[in-house]
Amino acid sequence: MSPSMHRSHRVAGALVGSAVGDALGAPFEFGPPGQFTARFPVPARGAKTEMCGGGSLGWEPGEFTDDTQMALLLATSLVDNDGLDLADVFARFSQWAAAGPPDIGNQTRAVLGSGRPWDVAAEEHFARSGHAAGNGSMMRTTPAAIWFARFGPATTTEAARRISTLTHGDPSAGEGCAIFHELMRVALDGGHPLAAVPAALDVVAEEHRERWATMLAPSWTPADATESNGAVWPTLGQAMWALRHGRDFAEVLRLVIDLGGDTDTVACVAGGLAGAVYGMGGIPSRWASVVHGRVPGHGDRVWRLADLQQLAAALDTGVQQSYDPGVIPRIGPTEVLPGIWAANLDGARYSEKDFAVISLCRLGEPFEHELQRMAYVADNEHNSDLGVVLADVLEDMAALRAEGHRLLVHCHGGASRTGLVLRAWLMRTEGMTADEATAHVAEHWPHLGLWNASFTAALDCLDR
Ligand SMILES: [Mg+2]
Repeated sequence: MSPSMHRSHRVAGALVGSAVGDALGAPFEFGPPGQFTARFPVPARGAKTEMCGGGSLGWEPGEFTDDTQMALLLATSLVDNDGLDLADVFARFSQWAAAGPPDIGNQTRAVLGSGRPWDVAAEEHFARSGHAAGNGSMMRTTPAAIWFARFGPATTTEAARRISTLTHGDPSAGEGCAIFHELMRVALDGGHPLAAVPAALDVVAEEHRERWATMLAPSWTPADATESNGAVWPTLGQAMWALRHGRDFAEVLRLVIDLGGDTDTVACVAGGLAGAVYGMGGIPSRWASVVHGRVPGHGDRVWRLADLQQLAAALDTGVQQSYDPGVIPRIGPTEVLPGIWAANLDGARYSEKDFAVISLCRLGEPFEHELQRMAYVADNEHNSDLGVVLADVLEDMAALRAEGHRLLVHCHGGASRTGLVLRAWLMRTEGMTADEATAHVAEHWPHLGLWNASFTAALDCLDR
């Protein structure tokens, strides 16, 4: 974690991290503990990764579930209405539920399918059943936590409660969402959610405080849970426990998914917080690159990584921006190093489809290549975790080369970011110094650009 990380990296990390957790955990839903590590004892960085798909509902690799589907409905409602319109959110949820999504929580289905008005449906269900403290309102609340963070603790926690009550009449669920919102607010500001727990507990209604304090105490472990993690308390408790014990984004998610049970939702909640802490660059690109899904009842649009990143920025700033890289004269692909090719954006986009593509810039429309990793590197000084991103990219490249793939490294112009990765690759594989690698790449790839001082500094770190 870096306190100097640009806010936009944390915001994108939060939304993408939650969707990644959802998709990564989905195949293991309702399974016993330890399944993830049993199946993936070491990182799977080749063509086949831990984003394995399957499970009882037959998910595609990287496909997100109801957690993210509902989150996207909430997110788009906030952005479209420039704020919270509870009736509109409920209408979007109901339209989704009526379309028969493959995965939907029991309580959510009962409330949304009741035919009752938005402002009484959940309350009536709770009065009737007495059961409503599931994790179904927490799992979808990351977009609202991003949106309301800029308005301060009181506003964001109140919004959390009101959104929760649309489907979950039990105030326990609402208090959990309020805590989550406050932890997310602190994380997006560069603080650590673990350090924010005491202050977050202060916002909890008094009759609920002790139970939440127990669950979020540093000494709490998943073995102390008195309910399954389909309930709201252990969901946040497990997510925070993993955040406390994991050393990076990937380890946090491995820890929570290995707990078993409601793995997609707990990983979704943990992934949102971990993504805010470690930033977009801390999310392994092999996971982020394949995350995708549709929202039943709301058209055929397939949501992908770039869509989630764009939506995250709109949630944080209130401004929607679309990105069109335009058409640029193609450069490459050219084989620069054995098995490693280089190009600019359109050179890569229109290359042969059997390349394994390493993308280092925004893309606009997705590529048609089956194997593509999108790393989060901006050509500016905002990459506080450049070393982490670079290590992730180089490890993936090594694994894909070992499987015999031709690799195509590109960024928008093919100059600066592409040059960074090519040089780092030579330092790693040939033991060259930064200067030797720069000279070697310059000789074979005349487009090399050396203007970014932070890239040179990152290579100097590799040198040591
Ligand atoms: Mg789910």
